[in-house]
Amino acid sequence: MAAVRIADAPLGALNTFGIEARARVLWRLEALDDLPGLLAALRADPVADPLVLGGGSNLLITGDIDRPVIQVALAGRRVLAGDDASVLIEAGAGESWDGLVRWSLAQGAWGLENLALIPGTVGAAPIQNIGAYGVEQRETFDSLDATDLLTGTARRFDAADCAFGYRDSVFKRPGGDRWLVTAVRYRLSRRPLPRLDYGEIRDELARAGCTAPTAVDVADAVSAIRRRRLPDPAVLGNAGSFFKNPLVEPALAQALAAREPGLPAWPAGGQVKLSAAWMIDRCGWKGHRDGDAGVHAAHALVLVNHGHAGGPALLALARRIRDSVHARFGVELEPEPVVVGPARL
Ligand SMILES: Cc1cc2nc3c(=O)[nH]c(=O)nc-3n(C[C@H](O)[C@H](O)[C@H](O)COP(=O)(O)OP(=O)(O)OC[C@H]3O[C@@H](n4cnc5c(N)ncnc54)[C@H](O)[C@@H]3O)c2cc1C
Repeated sequence: MAAVRIADAPLGALNTFGIEARARVLWRLEALDDLPGLLAALRADPVADPLVLGGGSNLLITGDIDRPVIQVALAGRRVLAGDDASVLIEAGAGESWDGLVRWSLAQGAWGLENLALIPGTVGAAPIQNIGAYGVEQRETFDSLDATDLLTGTARRFDAADCAFGYRDSVFKRPGGDRWLVTAVRYRLSRRPLPRLDYGEIRDELARAGCTAPTAVDVADAVSAIRRRRLPDPAVLGNAGSFFKNPLVEPALAQALAAREPGLPAWPAGGQVKLSAAWMIDRCGWKGHRDGDAGVHAAHALVLVNHGHAGGPALLALARRIRDSVHARFGVELEPEPVVVGPARL
């Protein structure tokens, strides 16, 4: 078998914003053995620099894509090792993230339950070090396998190699996108490690009458909260939070706290993390609409596609939001999704 090649591929169903762009050529990679042949074919392509695609849930595509696109569909989940204390699991990069979370819970493992229902694939999880409800994937990450798209060399990365940060890793920094992640491993706990102190998890569990929650109960509670708070991309196109919470120096945070009562702020390793959603809301953007490009009515951080918004319209709206926050707060917002195409924020 060889990787499947599709010319002039429609991307509307392959990105959660539902942006109707096309890829000049899309390769679907279903087996690791097909990767050398795919890389050889790419060397014959006049346009270097392929784009690796997972579930398309953290992308803003601003136009048709001339770069070859590789859709990673590598499947497989297995337990590599385990004892009474912990279990080491591995999954192919194309597996659904939420599918892996649910499968890990069925193995009796703790560690991924707060990350339930995050869209996308396993291979993308380390790219921006996904996080939710007080937990980041780096806390249980063991290692990943990746192949260098330029040389074809395979390499194992441990957590230090990945240099994880807040919504960040070595793969998001210059040159990092030459790596195609093929498999990821997590070391999970067999002992209960409930993390309930974030957001409404405790209230949700209490409402369900759950006093001694299992990991499945926690994942169910997180999923219920997420379903209430976030728009379902199948119904309303979006890529989750569009901006990262900015990290600022303590002096600026103090000055802002005095000027802007109620601005949520959290200590973050010598810096202070501010709530991007609160600042955007204060600038009056919640529910705003420019044609089909809009801001979710209930969640100021989520940009939405009400129908046929193109990438440029969403990007233009994101720029206006960023500029208004900068004008009022003096803080620079950075996008969380990867902007694909010639335009930049
Ligand atoms: C409704 C909604 C809620 C969300 N909530 C959260 C949340 O709570 N926390 C959070 O962190 N994120 C959240 N996200 C963002 C998104 O789900 C995650 O970032 C997810 O990990 C993206 O996975 P993906 O497979 O869709 O990646 P894609 O969007 O396809 O790709 C994202 C980036 O990863 C790269 N990439 C993808 N696969 C590979 C691979 N195998 N090898 C190398 N590079 C790869 C791509 O090139 C791109 O740069 C949310 C998104 C939506 C739509």
